[in-house]
Amino acid sequence: MAVSTCAKCAGHGFELALFTPIGESRKLTLVQCSQCGTPVGVVDPATGPQIEALTNQIAGIDQRLNRIAKALTE
Ligand SMILES: [Zn+2]
Repeated sequence: MAVSTCAKCAGHGFELALFTPIGESRKLTLVQCSQCGTPVGVVDPATGPQIEALTNQIAGIDQRLNRIAKALTE
């Protein structure tokens, strides 16, 4: 895999930093160069709980399918 390189200082180290966009109340997690602080990406913290909710829903569907399959074989 290629190594991520900062476009500004050519550094290879990156860190996560919390930042609040102007006019926003919720924080975003920013991926920034650990040497010069140039942002290279944003991690939206809202996607974590959304994925978790989907995982729970799928687990629920799976359980119901198992029950149906069990009822059909009995
Ligand atoms: Zn940099």
